[in-house]
Amino acid sequence: MIVVLRKGSGETEIQEVVGRLSEAGFSVHISQGVEKSLIGAIGDRSRIEELSLEALSCVEKVVPILAPYKLVSREFHPEDSVITVGGQRIGGPEIQVMAGPCAVESREQILETAAAVKEAGANFLRGGAFKPRTSPYSFQGLGEEGLRYLAEAREKTGLLVVTEVVDARDIELVASYADILQVGARNMQNFLLLKELSMLDKPVLLKRGLSATLEEWMMAAEYIMAGGNYQVIFCERGIRTFETYTRNTLDLTMVPALQLLSHLPVIVDPSHGTGKWQLVPPMAQAALAAGADGLIVEVHPCPEKAVSDGKQSLNLENFREMMKRLEKIARVLGRSLKGVAGE
Ligand code: PEP
Ligand code: MN
Repeated sequence: MIVVLRKGSGETEIQEVVGRLSEAGFSVHISQGVEKSLIGAIGDRSRIEELSLEALSCVEKVVPILAPYKLVSREFHPEDSVITVGGQRIGGPEIQVMAGPCAVESREQILETAAAVKEAGANFLRGGAFKPRTSPYSFQGLGEEGLRYLAEAREKTGLLVVTEVVDARDIELVASYADILQVGARNMQNFLLLKELSMLDKPVLLKRGLSATLEEWMMAAEYIMAGGNYQVIFCERGIRTFETYTRNTLDLTMVPALQLLSHLPVIVDPSHGTGKWQLVPPMAQAALAAGADGLIVEVHPCPEKAVSDGKQSLNLENFREMMKRLEKIARVLGRSLKGVAGE
Protein backbone atom coordinates (compact mmCIF):
# COMPACT_ATOMS: atom_id res chain seq x y z
CA MET A 1 0.00 0.00 0.00
CA ILE A 2 1.17 3.51 -0.68
CA VAL A 3 -0.17 6.48 1.22
CA VAL A 4 0.33 9.59 -0.89
CA LEU A 5 0.49 12.77 1.17
CA ARG A 6 -0.71 16.09 -0.15
CA LYS A 7 1.83 18.56 -1.45
CA GLY A 8 3.23 20.67 1.34
CA SER A 9 2.85 17.98 4.01
CA GLY A 10 5.71 18.03 6.48
CA GLU A 11 7.24 15.96 9.25
CA THR A 12 4.21 16.32 11.57
CA GLU A 13 1.85 14.92 8.95
CA ILE A 14 4.25 12.11 8.07
CA GLN A 15 4.57 11.15 11.72
CA GLU A 16 0.82 11.17 12.20
CA VAL A 17 0.31 8.69 9.37
CA VAL A 18 3.35 6.61 10.33
CA GLY A 19 2.07 6.39 13.91
CA ARG A 20 -1.32 5.06 12.84
CA LEU A 21 0.18 2.54 10.45
CA SER A 22 2.77 1.28 12.94
CA GLU A 23 0.10 0.86 15.60
CA ALA A 24 -1.89 -1.32 13.22
CA GLY A 25 1.17 -3.51 12.70
CA PHE A 26 2.36 -2.24 9.34
CA SER A 27 6.03 -1.92 8.55
CA VAL A 28 6.51 1.58 7.26
CA HIS A 29 8.91 2.99 4.67
CA ILE A 30 9.11 6.67 3.82
CA SER A 31 9.92 7.97 0.35
CA GLN A 32 10.41 11.72 0.22
CA GLY A 33 10.22 13.07 -3.31
CA VAL A 34 10.76 16.59 -4.60
CA GLU A 35 7.02 17.15 -4.93
CA LYS A 36 5.36 14.79 -2.51
CA SER A 37 6.04 12.36 0.29
CA LEU A 38 4.91 8.78 -0.03
CA ILE A 39 4.58 6.28 2.77
CA GLY A 40 4.85 2.62 1.89
CA ALA A 41 2.98 0.35 4.28
CA ILE A 42 3.53 -3.37 4.26
CA GLY A 43 1.23 -5.58 6.29
CA ASP A 44 -2.30 -6.91 6.46
CA ARG A 45 -4.15 -5.11 3.70
CA SER A 46 -7.57 -5.82 5.20
CA ARG A 47 -6.72 -3.57 8.16
CA ILE A 48 -6.19 -0.48 5.99
CA GLU A 49 -9.94 0.24 5.77
CA GLU A 50 -10.40 0.57 9.54
CA LEU A 51 -7.61 3.14 9.73
CA SER A 52 -9.62 5.57 7.54
CA LEU A 53 -6.44 7.27 6.44
CA GLU A 54 -8.19 9.03 3.60
CA ALA A 55 -10.16 10.96 6.21
CA LEU A 56 -6.98 12.75 7.26
CA SER A 57 -6.59 16.11 5.57
CA CYS A 58 -2.93 15.47 4.75
CA VAL A 59 -3.66 12.26 2.82
CA GLU A 60 -4.31 12.60 -0.89
CA LYS A 61 -4.95 8.93 -1.59
CA VAL A 62 -4.18 5.37 -0.59
CA VAL A 63 -3.18 3.09 -3.46
CA PRO A 64 -2.43 -0.62 -3.41
CA ILE A 65 0.71 -1.88 -5.13
CA LEU A 66 -0.38 -4.98 -6.99
CA ALA A 67 3.10 -6.21 -7.96
CA PRO A 68 4.87 -8.45 -5.43
CA TYR A 69 7.76 -6.01 -5.23
CA LYS A 70 6.77 -2.90 -3.32
CA LEU A 71 9.69 -0.73 -2.16
CA VAL A 72 11.64 -1.53 -5.32
CA SER A 73 8.75 -0.36 -7.50
CA ARG A 74 8.50 3.00 -9.17
CA GLU A 75 5.15 3.56 -7.51
CA PHE A 76 6.89 3.77 -4.13
CA HIS A 77 9.53 6.18 -5.41
CA PRO A 78 8.49 7.85 -8.69
CA GLU A 79 11.79 9.68 -9.21
CA ASP A 80 15.04 7.88 -10.04
CA SER A 81 16.97 6.93 -6.92
CA VAL A 82 20.46 8.33 -6.87
CA ILE A 83 22.92 6.52 -4.63
CA THR A 84 25.74 8.65 -3.30
CA VAL A 85 28.90 6.92 -2.19
CA GLY A 86 32.20 8.59 -1.37
CA GLY A 87 31.15 11.73 -3.26
CA GLN A 88 30.20 9.78 -6.41
CA ARG A 89 26.62 9.47 -7.62
CA ILE A 90 25.14 6.36 -9.19
CA GLY A 91 21.85 6.81 -11.01
CA GLY A 92 22.25 10.51 -11.80
CA PRO A 93 23.44 12.02 -15.09
CA GLU A 94 26.95 10.65 -14.56
CA ILE A 95 27.93 7.30 -16.05
CA GLN A 96 29.96 5.37 -13.48
CA VAL A 97 32.55 2.84 -14.54
CA MET A 98 33.79 0.20 -12.11
CA ALA A 99 36.89 -1.55 -13.38
CA GLY A 100 39.50 -3.98 -12.18
CA PRO A 101 40.46 -7.62 -12.18
CA CYS A 102 38.13 -10.53 -11.59
CA ALA A 103 40.20 -11.47 -8.54
CA VAL A 104 42.72 -9.62 -6.43
CA GLU A 105 45.84 -11.69 -7.09
CA SER A 106 48.66 -9.64 -5.57
CA ARG A 107 49.43 -6.18 -4.22
CA GLU A 108 51.33 -5.21 -7.39
CA GLN A 109 48.55 -6.42 -9.67
CA ILE A 110 45.86 -4.43 -7.90
CA LEU A 111 47.93 -1.25 -7.49
CA GLU A 112 48.98 -1.27 -11.15
CA THR A 113 45.42 -1.88 -12.35
CA ALA A 114 44.01 0.76 -10.02
CA ALA A 115 46.40 3.45 -11.25
CA ALA A 116 45.61 2.63 -14.88
CA VAL A 117 41.82 2.50 -14.59
CA LYS A 118 41.81 5.71 -12.58
CA GLU A 119 43.88 7.42 -15.24
CA ALA A 120 41.47 6.14 -17.90
CA GLY A 121 38.49 7.71 -16.07
CA ALA A 122 36.99 5.05 -13.80
CA ASN A 123 35.80 6.12 -10.34
CA PHE A 124 35.48 2.64 -8.85
CA LEU A 125 37.89 -0.26 -8.50
CA ARG A 126 36.48 -3.78 -8.64
CA GLY A 127 38.24 -6.96 -7.54
CA GLY A 128 37.18 -10.12 -5.77
CA ALA A 129 38.87 -11.14 -2.53
CA PHE A 130 36.30 -13.89 -1.90
CA LYS A 131 35.65 -15.76 -5.14
CA PRO A 132 32.61 -17.99 -5.70
CA ARG A 133 34.21 -20.56 -8.03
CA THR A 134 32.49 -23.36 -9.90
CA SER A 135 35.23 -25.74 -8.79
CA PRO A 136 36.34 -26.10 -5.16
CA TYR A 137 39.87 -26.68 -6.51
CA SER A 138 40.06 -23.27 -8.24
CA PHE A 139 41.61 -20.18 -6.59
CA GLN A 140 39.16 -18.98 -3.93
CA GLY A 141 40.58 -15.50 -3.44
CA LEU A 142 43.06 -13.86 -1.06
CA GLY A 143 40.43 -13.12 1.58
CA GLU A 144 41.28 -10.31 3.99
CA GLU A 145 44.72 -9.85 2.47
CA GLY A 146 42.99 -9.02 -0.81
CA LEU A 147 40.69 -6.56 0.95
CA ARG A 148 43.75 -4.81 2.41
CA TYR A 149 45.26 -4.38 -1.06
CA LEU A 150 42.00 -2.93 -2.32
CA ALA A 151 41.94 -0.45 0.56
CA GLU A 152 45.54 0.50 -0.13
CA ALA A 153 44.66 1.09 -3.80
CA ARG A 154 41.79 3.34 -2.69
CA GLU A 155 44.17 5.32 -0.50
CA LYS A 156 46.63 5.76 -3.34
CA THR A 157 44.17 6.57 -6.13
CA GLY A 158 40.95 7.81 -4.52
CA LEU A 159 39.02 5.06 -6.33
CA LEU A 160 36.09 3.60 -4.41
CA VAL A 161 36.10 -0.13 -3.83
CA VAL A 162 33.49 -2.64 -5.02
CA THR A 163 34.01 -6.22 -3.88
CA GLU A 164 31.95 -9.35 -3.45
CA VAL A 165 30.70 -10.83 -0.21
CA VAL A 166 29.79 -14.51 -0.53
CA ASP A 167 28.95 -15.38 3.05
CA ALA A 168 26.78 -13.56 5.59
CA ARG A 169 29.47 -14.23 8.22
CA ASP A 170 31.91 -12.03 6.25
CA ILE A 171 29.68 -8.98 5.85
CA GLU A 172 31.22 -7.01 8.70
CA LEU A 173 34.75 -7.74 7.50
CA VAL A 174 34.05 -6.90 3.85
CA ALA A 175 32.09 -3.78 4.80
CA SER A 176 35.01 -2.53 6.86
CA TYR A 177 37.08 -2.29 3.65
CA ALA A 178 34.56 -1.87 0.81
CA ASP A 179 32.49 1.09 -0.36
CA ILE A 180 30.00 -1.10 -2.23
CA LEU A 181 29.29 -4.77 -1.47
CA GLN A 182 28.65 -6.99 -4.44
CA VAL A 183 26.21 -9.89 -4.33
CA GLY A 184 27.24 -12.28 -7.08
CA ALA A 185 24.95 -14.04 -9.53
CA ARG A 186 25.23 -17.32 -7.62
CA ASN A 187 24.02 -15.66 -4.45
CA MET A 188 21.17 -13.57 -5.81
CA GLN A 189 18.68 -15.77 -4.03
CA ASN A 190 20.72 -16.37 -0.90
CA PHE A 191 17.99 -14.84 1.21
CA LEU A 192 19.91 -15.09 4.45
CA LEU A 193 22.73 -13.05 2.91
CA LEU A 194 20.23 -10.54 1.50
CA LYS A 195 18.50 -10.16 4.87
CA GLU A 196 21.79 -9.50 6.60
CA LEU A 197 22.72 -6.92 3.94
CA SER A 198 19.37 -5.24 4.49
CA MET A 199 20.65 -4.11 7.86
CA LEU A 200 23.82 -2.59 6.47
CA ASP A 201 24.31 1.11 5.79
CA LYS A 202 26.29 0.60 2.57
CA PRO A 203 25.26 0.23 -1.07
CA VAL A 204 24.75 -3.27 -2.44
CA LEU A 205 25.44 -4.17 -6.07
CA LEU A 206 22.96 -6.92 -6.82
CA LYS A 207 23.91 -9.07 -9.78
CA ARG A 208 21.26 -10.94 -11.70
CA GLY A 209 21.13 -14.67 -11.02
CA LEU A 210 22.26 -17.01 -13.79
CA SER A 211 18.67 -17.90 -14.64
CA ALA A 212 16.69 -15.31 -12.71
CA THR A 213 13.60 -13.69 -14.13
CA LEU A 214 13.14 -9.97 -13.82
CA GLU A 215 10.60 -10.50 -11.06
CA GLU A 216 12.85 -12.84 -9.05
CA TRP A 217 15.65 -10.31 -9.36
CA MET A 218 13.42 -7.47 -8.18
CA MET A 219 12.23 -9.59 -5.26
CA ALA A 220 15.86 -10.13 -4.25
CA ALA A 221 16.27 -6.34 -4.17
CA GLU A 222 13.03 -6.13 -2.18
CA TYR A 223 14.64 -8.31 0.52
CA ILE A 224 17.43 -5.76 0.91
CA MET A 225 15.09 -2.76 0.94
CA ALA A 226 12.56 -4.41 3.26
CA GLY A 227 15.12 -4.47 6.05
CA GLY A 228 15.81 -0.75 5.60
CA ASN A 229 18.77 -0.64 3.22
CA TYR A 230 17.53 1.38 0.25
CA GLN A 231 20.91 1.57 -1.45
CA VAL A 232 20.56 -1.15 -4.07
CA ILE A 233 22.07 -1.11 -7.56
CA PHE A 234 21.00 -3.70 -10.13
CA CYS A 235 23.66 -5.27 -12.31
CA GLU A 236 22.75 -7.17 -15.50
CA ARG A 237 25.52 -9.72 -16.13
CA GLY A 238 23.97 -12.07 -18.63
CA ILE A 239 21.86 -15.17 -18.23
CA ARG A 240 22.15 -18.75 -19.31
CA THR A 241 20.59 -19.56 -22.66
CA PHE A 242 21.07 -22.22 -25.36
CA GLU A 243 23.88 -20.14 -26.90
CA THR A 244 27.33 -21.46 -26.12
CA TYR A 245 29.55 -19.15 -28.18
CA THR A 246 29.22 -16.49 -25.52
CA ARG A 247 29.61 -17.34 -21.82
CA ASN A 248 26.19 -15.84 -21.08
CA THR A 249 23.60 -13.92 -23.05
CA LEU A 250 23.74 -10.27 -22.05
CA ASP A 251 20.11 -9.25 -21.69
CA LEU A 252 20.20 -5.51 -22.27
CA THR A 253 16.41 -5.38 -22.41
CA MET A 254 16.58 -5.48 -18.63
CA VAL A 255 17.97 -1.95 -18.51
CA PRO A 256 14.86 -0.17 -19.82
CA ALA A 257 12.59 -2.82 -18.27
CA LEU A 258 14.00 -2.18 -14.81
CA GLN A 259 13.84 1.56 -15.33
CA LEU A 260 10.17 1.24 -16.20
CA LEU A 261 9.31 -0.81 -13.13
CA SER A 262 11.85 0.41 -10.57
CA HIS A 263 13.53 3.58 -9.37
CA LEU A 264 16.85 1.90 -8.56
CA PRO A 265 19.98 2.44 -10.68
CA VAL A 266 21.01 -0.23 -13.20
CA ILE A 267 24.51 -1.02 -14.38
CA VAL A 268 25.77 -3.62 -16.85
CA ASP A 269 28.63 -6.14 -16.72
CA PRO A 270 29.66 -6.84 -20.32
CA SER A 271 32.59 -9.01 -19.15
CA HIS A 272 30.60 -11.86 -17.58
CA GLY A 273 27.81 -11.03 -20.03
CA THR A 274 29.91 -12.11 -23.00
CA GLY A 275 32.94 -14.03 -21.70
CA LYS A 276 35.11 -12.65 -24.52
CA TRP A 277 37.17 -9.49 -24.23
CA GLN A 278 36.66 -8.62 -27.90
CA LEU A 279 32.91 -8.35 -27.29
CA VAL A 280 33.21 -6.20 -24.18
CA PRO A 281 33.66 -2.72 -25.73
CA PRO A 282 30.77 -3.02 -28.23
CA MET A 283 28.41 -4.36 -25.55
CA ALA A 284 29.54 -1.65 -23.14
CA GLN A 285 28.60 0.91 -25.77
CA ALA A 286 25.25 -0.78 -26.31
CA ALA A 287 24.61 -0.77 -22.55
CA LEU A 288 25.06 3.00 -22.39
CA ALA A 289 22.81 3.45 -25.41
CA ALA A 290 20.17 1.33 -23.66
CA GLY A 291 20.27 3.74 -20.71
CA ALA A 292 22.53 2.01 -18.19
CA ASP A 293 23.80 4.15 -15.30
CA GLY A 294 27.19 2.54 -15.44
CA LEU A 295 29.33 -0.48 -16.16
CA ILE A 296 31.41 -2.98 -14.27
CA VAL A 297 34.27 -4.26 -16.40
CA GLU A 298 37.09 -6.74 -15.83
CA VAL A 299 40.52 -5.28 -16.53
CA HIS A 300 43.88 -6.98 -15.97
CA PRO A 301 47.43 -5.77 -16.70
CA CYS A 302 48.18 -9.14 -18.27
CA PRO A 303 44.94 -11.02 -19.08
CA GLU A 304 46.78 -14.09 -20.41
CA LYS A 305 48.22 -14.61 -16.92
CA ALA A 306 45.05 -13.89 -14.94
CA VAL A 307 44.05 -16.57 -12.44
CA SER A 308 40.41 -16.14 -13.34
CA ASP A 309 38.39 -14.74 -16.23
CA GLY A 310 41.42 -13.73 -18.33
CA LYS A 311 39.51 -14.42 -21.55
CA GLN A 312 36.99 -11.73 -20.78
CA SER A 313 39.39 -9.20 -19.28
CA LEU A 314 40.52 -6.12 -21.15
CA ASN A 315 44.16 -5.16 -20.96
CA LEU A 316 45.00 -1.64 -19.81
CA GLU A 317 45.38 -0.24 -23.32
CA ASN A 318 42.09 -1.71 -24.55
CA PHE A 319 40.33 -0.35 -21.47
CA ARG A 320 41.67 3.15 -22.15
CA GLU A 321 40.50 2.98 -25.75
CA MET A 322 37.07 1.79 -24.71
CA MET A 323 36.72 4.63 -22.19
CA LYS A 324 37.44 7.24 -24.85
CA ARG A 325 34.67 5.86 -27.01
CA LEU A 326 32.27 5.60 -24.11
CA GLU A 327 32.89 9.20 -23.19
CA LYS A 328 31.72 10.31 -26.64
CA ILE A 329 28.62 8.14 -26.40
CA ALA A 330 27.83 9.49 -22.94
CA ARG A 331 27.99 13.03 -24.31
CA VAL A 332 25.60 12.23 -27.17
CA LEU A 333 23.21 10.75 -24.63
CA GLY A 334 23.32 13.92 -22.52
CA ARG A 335 25.23 12.17 -19.75
CA SER A 336 28.79 12.55 -18.60
CA LEU A 337 31.75 10.29 -18.08
CA LYS A 338 34.12 12.57 -16.23
CA GLY A 339 37.81 11.99 -15.96
CA VAL A 340 38.35 10.60 -19.44
CA ALA A 341 41.18 12.35 -21.23
CA GLY A 342 40.16 13.55 -24.70
CA GLU A 343 41.97 12.56 -27.86
C1 PEP B 1 32.58 -11.38 -10.66
O1 PEP B 1 32.14 -10.23 -10.68
O2 PEP B 1 33.80 -11.65 -10.75
C2 PEP B 1 31.61 -12.50 -10.61
C3 PEP B 1 31.92 -13.65 -10.05
O3 PEP B 1 30.47 -12.19 -11.20
P1 PEP B 1 29.08 -13.02 -11.31
O4 PEP B 1 28.60 -13.21 -9.92
O5 PEP B 1 28.21 -12.11 -12.13
O6 PEP B 1 29.37 -14.32 -12.01
MN1 MN C 1 34.97 -12.67 -12.90
